[in-house]
Amino acid sequence: MEAITHILTGIVIQIFCFIYLIFPFNLIFTMIFAFLSHYIIDALAKMTYHTPEAHPEDKVWVIWHILTPALIVVLLVWLIIMNWILVLLFLIGAIFANLVDIIDWLVFRAILKKDREVHYFLHDSIDFIREKIPPFTWIPNWNQEYKGIIIEAFIITIIWLTILFTLNFMPTNFL
Ligand SMILES: [Zn+2]
Repeated sequence: MEAITHILTGIVIQIFCFIYLIFPFNLIFTMIFAFLSHYIIDALAKMTYHTPEAHPEDKVWVIWHILTPALIVVLLVWLIIMNWILVLLFLIGAIFANLVDIIDWLVFRAILKKDREVHYFLHDSIDFIREKIPPFTWIPNWNQEYKGIIIEAFIITIIWLTILFTLNFMPTNFL
């Protein structure tokens, strides 16, 4: 899914870890669960709008790819207004929730640039989950369909609302 969806997931995981766990388990489990969340979110991404190739001629594609990065800016501004210390703290959840993409797109792509057939190792295992392991195999493939946008927008809304309603319960003296 989009980076904003992974970022929001990482933040919500961090909020719950910090509410229910004490130091250092709050940090350790934020990292573990946020990292693993990428597998589940990407396996669910089968039913969201994700064309493998860019479609600059398609207005819907263009708007979606402007809107989702813009939401990261909106999230950042909102968190800074709420409590700017939290932004620094949430970098942990946000980065670990995106680590699979960071490793595959940045590290492996850079290392294997010269190879004719480039493999993205961590996403290969996500593809395996999507294609072989129920209930992910039952999920319809809407990667090329606009209705997939509604699914991801719904997921973003639900996670964002969860953050909104749980943020105040997060202890600020967490160490
Ligand atoms: Zn990914």
